[in-house]
Amino acid sequence: MKRQWVFAFEEGDGKNKMLLGGKGANLCEMTQIGLNVPPGFTLTTEACQAYLEHDELPKGAWEEVLKSMKDLEKKTGKQFGGTDNPLLISVRSGSSMSMPGMMDTILNLGLNKATLQGIIKLTNNPRFGYDAWRRFIQLFGKIALGVEDKHFDDAMAAMKKKVGVADDVDLKAEHLSELADQFAQIIEANTGKPFPEDPYKQLEIAIGAVFRSWNGKRAIDYRRQFKITREMANGTAVNICTMVFGNMGNDSGTGVGFTRNPGTGENMIYGEYLVNAQGEDVVAGIRTPKAIAEMEHDMPEIYRQLLELHNRLETHYKEVQDFEFTIERGTLYCLQTRNGKMNAAAMVRTSVEMFKEGLITKEKALMRIDPAMLEQLLVPQLSPDFRGKPLATGLPASPGAASGKIVFDADTAESRGMAGEKIILVREETKPEDIHGFFQAQGILTSRGGKTSHAAVVARGMGKPCVSGCEAIHINDIKRSATIGDTTLHEGDVVTIDGGNGNVYAGEVPTVQAEFSHDMETLLKWADQVSRLKVMANADTPEDALRARGFGAMGIGLCRTERMFNATDRLPIVQEMILAESIEERQAAIDRLLPIQRADFKGIFKAMKGLPVTVRLMDPPLHEFLPTAAQLELEIAHLHHLRDSLKALEELPETLKLLNPKLYMQYADGLTKLGRSMTDFKEGHLEEDVIHKKEKTLKKVRALSEVNPMLGHRGVRLGITYPEIYSMQIQAVLEAAALCAREGIEVHPEIMVPQVATVEELVRIHSYVKRIHKVVELTHGIKVDVKFGSMLEVVRACLRAGRMAQDAEFFSFGTNDLTQATFSFSREDAENKFLPGYVEAGILVDNPFEVLDQKGVGELMKLAVSEGRKTNPDLKVGICGEHGGHPGSIAFCHSIGLTYVSCSGPRVPIARLAAAQAQLMETGGAVTKNA
Ligand code: PEP
Ligand code: MG
Repeated sequence: MKRQWVFAFEEGDGKNKMLLGGKGANLCEMTQIGLNVPPGFTLTTEACQAYLEHDELPKGAWEEVLKSMKDLEKKTGKQFGGTDNPLLISVRSGSSMSMPGMMDTILNLGLNKATLQGIIKLTNNPRFGYDAWRRFIQLFGKIALGVEDKHFDDAMAAMKKKVGVADDVDLKAEHLSELADQFAQIIEANTGKPFPEDPYKQLEIAIGAVFRSWNGKRAIDYRRQFKITREMANGTAVNICTMVFGNMGNDSGTGVGFTRNPGTGENMIYGEYLVNAQGEDVVAGIRTPKAIAEMEHDMPEIYRQLLELHNRLETHYKEVQDFEFTIERGTLYCLQTRNGKMNAAAMVRTSVEMFKEGLITKEKALMRIDPAMLEQLLVPQLSPDFRGKPLATGLPASPGAASGKIVFDADTAESRGMAGEKIILVREETKPEDIHGFFQAQGILTSRGGKTSHAAVVARGMGKPCVSGCEAIHINDIKRSATIGDTTLHEGDVVTIDGGNGNVYAGEVPTVQAEFSHDMETLLKWADQVSRLKVMANADTPEDALRARGFGAMGIGLCRTERMFNATDRLPIVQEMILAESIEERQAAIDRLLPIQRADFKGIFKAMKGLPVTVRLMDPPLHEFLPTAAQLELEIAHLHHLRDSLKALEELPETLKLLNPKLYMQYADGLTKLGRSMTDFKEGHLEEDVIHKKEKTLKKVRALSEVNPMLGHRGVRLGITYPEIYSMQIQAVLEAAALCAREGIEVHPEIMVPQVATVEELVRIHSYVKRIHKVVELTHGIKVDVKFGSMLEVVRACLRAGRMAQDAEFFSFGTNDLTQATFSFSREDAENKFLPGYVEAGILVDNPFEVLDQKGVGELMKLAVSEGRKTNPDLKVGICGEHGGHPGSIAFCHSIGLTYVSCSGPRVPIARLAAAQAQLMETGGAVTKNA
């Protein structure tokens, strides 16, 4: 069958972007729905492929072009190469994937010395004519004939110098005419041929050049960068379109518009225009454009036509459109339309309103928003007008922007924060004992650690901005300062961090606050009606729990209980528990912790009002609750030094009295004062048992030290070694539940064991739970509903999921640890060291700590889900690693049949939308559940 290489805008299939390119297809579609598009036609991407293969147009293609040009002359009443009413055309590239600016476009083709005079007569504007002429020669020379821009630029610079002006716009018609002649000479000198005056010759050369630009370096690099494969786009189309001019007098003009306000979503024509101007003038900002609203007064008839265009575009595309238009002597042309890019607030509002207007379905309203966009609406952002340069960039660990005075330790953060100052806590890395500093800080900045480091995870849970792993920052704890390159920051200096992109700025940068609009609530309610996946939150305190509910969490999927141990009033008790030398001593500390944990759980249960709460038993290694060995060594050495100095000072007066009684009298007063203050100090710090206690702690820290703490004595391993710790936690959960139940508060606690590798571990902890459950029910005289389950974050546990499921009512994938274990990549270090390089080199497509690795970690998950459900068909399975808040990973979790995802509070809305989209994709957009 004979192939058709060329399609007029009236006949091309607007849906066939692969063949006609995005721009071509859209021009066809607009033409066919009756919008006033300048007539034209498209050479197909197949013609491009054939051209690139044989270095010439395929047989018959040129004849089709010639015929189409004749048709164009008929449609426009203009003549290509004619002098009275010359037809000028644009020759534009356009593939099926948008590749802005990567391929070539030539405007005003058809101009030559003769047609130029026709244009000048028609526009009555010689300057415009010559300007178009010199631009065309340059563009054609560069794109179609390969002449370097530099030659033209030099000629332009020389002309401006000669005339004595700084700007192109100040050149007059005669200068531009002279420049055009010079440009033509440049072409002849560089190509050995005169500039082609024959418009058809121009056209033939231009088509070839646009086709070849598909294989230009820019385009190839772009495709590689954005992973555009041949299946997605294969060659560029060439669109030949009649030029229309907005600068033919005061009944002409040009502009750009949005069918709704892209900043707010309001349903109005939004945009700007210029009377008697070309498209480029709007972009170049030479004249200040007017708001489209003013057109109602200035050009009422055109304004009416624009309103009509607005309605037709929206009713046809069922999406907000961003369009370009030109008015040529009172006739409105639509030159281009595409889906409008809007901010998150506008996307949410337009989704709800377009549904209410009957323009789109609820499913489309949910599908058209990228869930990740919602983040903009949930946390404070840097003012969009801010253009400053960052001091340094780290990892974007927890979104949002915050400014504050830097402090280098959690105690100072706490005291200054409580005094009402805005604080950014800056640490090399944070530890659980820093938690009180987090509470009072606006944001956290660390120089080490990845996106699943302590700082990152805790900050996300609290909804506070965090930049982690900012290795350019060197912190000097002693001097209480930090250096970044040449800049030194002292404690109290103000910085701003942007946890959305990892940037750190000096000084305070204005931020805009988040807002959770009524439209957002509506949209998310629709999402919940559709989703199969439930969305839970990771929350550790009653405050976090309340906030998570505000974001629409359907329960708590992970409460990291150890976080409660870190508050200033509890840490000393926990340390006593760790340092205990006998079971009795340990039990005494544990007995003091029990009522505290019980009260915490009660607070969380109350906040969650009957929604399930998954409490994870203690996970981190014990040394995390103690100071580091280095810190203790330093403190002990310091104390020894002080004690020795004090002793020497105490002996000094006696020596002085003997040697020089006069001098002694003179300084007696001062020495008494000094002695008094030293005594005060001594009482506070230098008592033997303070030093002794620190030395004892140091011994314990050394004993607890491990080469690989992440693979060490943590999680369930602690629960097996110290059953009394886990027993206390289990008792606290169950008693809190019993107390709530007695107060008439519905509670659904679930106890979860971390780091499980063997069935025996799980069985052992399950036996504690069963025993304590019985005792609590008996002593409180009330039934307590509790579920028991396991985290799956160790590879072996996934492989043994079938057997595990006999003892577990639920599984929760801890994909932070599971990713670490599957790749053998340290989650604390990989993101700052080799991972960015891996992603850049294409060895990994994404950072697996951020985007779930479906092929590896995902396979383990699939296996565990299917094996687990074979033995326990009612098995509830969730995910509580950071991937639970990542839209693409959520879609995967949906596809393998998880019951829920759990993520940090501020990500809950994102996850709710992503869960709905996953369901809609599965059912092809049809709402099958709860609709
Ligand atoms: C995990 O490993 O995915 C998890 C949720 O636990 P944590 O991050 O506390 O180790
Ligand atoms: Mg874990």
